Amino acid sequence: MMKTDASRAGMALPARVGSSQPRVQSRREDPAAPRAGVPGTRQSGRADGRAPSDGDAIPARHVAVVGAGLAGLAAALSLKREGWRVTLVERSRLLGGKATSFQLGDIEMDSGQHAILGCYSSFLEFVDELGMRGDLRIQERFDVLMLTDTGRARLRALRLPAPLHLALPFLRFRALGVRSRLQVARALLAARRPRGGEEGETFAAWLHRHGQGTQAQRVFWEPFLVPALNAPFDRVSAAAGLMVVRTALLGSRDAARIGYATVPLARFAERAAEQCDQVLLRTPVTGLHVEGGELRGLLTGDAEIGVDAAVLAVPPERLVRMAGAEALEVPDLETFTTQPIVDVHLWYERPIGAGADGDPASSHRGSPPLAGAAEPRSAHPAIERSQDPADVWPYLDFAAMTGSPVQWIFAKGPGYLCCSLSSAGDLISQPEERLVALADSELRSRLTELGGATLLRGVAVRDPEATFVPAPGLRRPGPATALANAVLAGCWTDTGWPATMEGAVRSGRAAARTLMAALPNQERATGPGPARTSRVELGGGS
Ligand SMILES: Cc1cc2nc3c(=O)[nH]c(=O)nc-3n(C[C@H](O)[C@H](O)[C@H](O)COP(=O)(O)OP(=O)(O)OC[C@H]3O[C@@H](n4cnc5c(N)ncnc54)[C@H](O)[C@@H]3O)c2cc1C
Repeated sequence: MMKTDASRAGMALPARVGSSQPRVQSRREDPAAPRAGVPGTRQSGRADGRAPSDGDAIPARHVAVVGAGLAGLAAALSLKREGWRVTLVERSRLLGGKATSFQLGDIEMDSGQHAILGCYSSFLEFVDELGMRGDLRIQERFDVLMLTDTGRARLRALRLPAPLHLALPFLRFRALGVRSRLQVARALLAARRPRGGEEGETFAAWLHRHGQGTQAQRVFWEPFLVPALNAPFDRVSAAAGLMVVRTALLGSRDAARIGYATVPLARFAERAAEQCDQVLLRTPVTGLHVEGGELRGLLTGDAEIGVDAAVLAVPPERLVRMAGAEALEVPDLETFTTQPIVDVHLWYERPIGAGADGDPASSHRGSPPLAGAAEPRSAHPAIERSQDPADVWPYLDFAAMTGSPVQWIFAKGPGYLCCSLSSAGDLISQPEERLVALADSELRSRLTELGGATLLRGVAVRDPEATFVPAPGLRRPGPATALANAVLAGCWTDTGWPATMEGAVRSGRAAARTLMAALPNQERATGPGPARTSRVELGGGS
């Protein structure tokens, strides 16, 4: 068994980001690297380093995007589109932040198993912009296999307008008794009201106030909402819970469709970074150089990157540690708390999870990806053919477990299952062997198909600070700061979404819009002027 912690695993520069793509520099790679080509070294303000002439276009503004998570990358793409010159500055050796991948022996693993929902409109646009929609598999319609302690049930949307598409199948959802189904239905009706959730109320209190019994909580609310919020219901606000319910469960017909990436997550970040003028990896920003009410530069150790503007797309606990960050006047940064997530990857002997012919090529990895709603083809013929959940296993895509620390199982390949354990505060410090044994025994207890199948390998990936907790009363800042040329991005900012890829992309785009509004085109015509010479020092050298 191998053990890893994505935040600590030693990871090389992504192989796909090469010299023909964006200029990627790593501080430790070559501390004495020549400065040529580094955008901040310009004397002219031109990305190509040539001196401007009278006929030249107005120099593009130079913006540094700090943090190469999805928020930073989305901001970078938006600003690039508007003609800004973008330097991406990332402390880690990897692109993608929480949504990245790393090499573990011969496997490239995601730092966390990520689900995508049909309601992720901004994230899906971002993926389209990268030309990578074909690298996502999204269900044609919401379809979930529930593995309960009393059997299996399937909840599958009908091809009807919302909310009938889910309401009718839910009435026949046999994982819940009739009484519990009625309780849930009543709560869903209450959730549709625009005002629901008292100020300061927790989601647990809201569920209690709406009469949700133990079975309704265990079999319906927990498998769907705990992973979405990644926190116990008594720690998250009712508003956050209701936002998820309204957007995903009660939203449009496509909103609840579930999907995932069929390529390692880092590929998305790498493709986005290719569009930046400069990418500096292993370059933690340690401080802000603020002068005259304006951000002038980013301090990276004893060096400074001169900027016209910056998007600070780092988590709140990192922002608070940046020297000079108080000039941003962002309140309450210290009030953010986080919750862990554990993923357990299990490899069983070959026949489990392979296609009917036992050929790995017929597993979902080898299947043509579903490209959103327009694509009616299923890569899972058994699911199309059969209504019997017992037949689904050979093609199991993802399933939810009820009353288990494992909330979701994703079939990643023949015999390869990834178990996602959200809100894993009690488990995060458990030794890997115990986590692997726990996930294995949970799966065996619900998936009789596993029978005596040998577990070949198990890996636990832990993120102790996976996502922020949308606690009652938490004040999430918007993108604007006290400095007109410095904006915030990150899934934790005020997007209305919990910590998701959708929230991250939305925040990045909002940050870019705020910056463009604060430094509009007319002002750009005068440009920062040659006096504002920027400078980048790598490796802290002179
Ligand atoms: C295990 C796990 C599972 C998840 N599952 C899902 C899911 O199923 N569906 C979903 O939608 N979302 C999921 N999420 C949440 C999602 O990944 C995040 O909400 C999103 O990726 C956050 O993006 P971000 O850009 O806001 O922040 P981050 O990804 O945290 O990016 C911040 C970046 O800033 C960098 N940085 C920090 N400090 C500095 C500094 N001083 N200088 C330079 N760089 C710095 C960091 O290294 C990082 O790259 C999951 C998260 C985890 C951890």
